[in-house]
Amino acid sequence: MAAPAETVVLADGIAAAIHAQAAAAAPRECCGLLEGAHDGQVFCVTALHPARNLAEGEGRFEIDPADHFAARRTARARGRGIIGCYHSHPGGQAAASVHDLAGAGEDGFLWLVAADDVLAAFVYRGGRFWPLATGADWVTSSG
Ligand SMILES: [Zn+2]
Repeated sequence: MAAPAETVVLADGIAAAIHAQAAAAAPRECCGLLEGAHDGQVFCVTALHPARNLAEGEGRFEIDPADHFAARRTARARGRGIIGCYHSHPGGQAAASVHDLAGAGEDGFLWLVAADDVLAAFVYRGGRFWPLATGADWVTSSG
């Protein structure tokens, strides 16, 4: 399977908001859902839906199903969808962990992982995480 030729665009303030939530939640992981649109080529993230992390202990996250449901409802009302999720790795790497892989299930779901000042993007497809291209210019205005 070839790596997906997909890219990610974040609306203004999205990356900063994730890093702020990560700092506030540390040493626990912050988590939430990504609202936006996916046209097959570009994941366009337009809003965040912070969620409660139900996981016990550090180094894990489990999005509260009630928050997940509410996020989907809100996104749908705006004509968008939930296209992915985000969480943080306090003091860790901006990469998907074995726990993340075990918890992934939705094919084509966008994953953003924040660690320190780095935000990395992956798409879950075919049972693994594929890194998505994220250059210095990937954080742009949604217009
Ligand atoms: Zn993780």
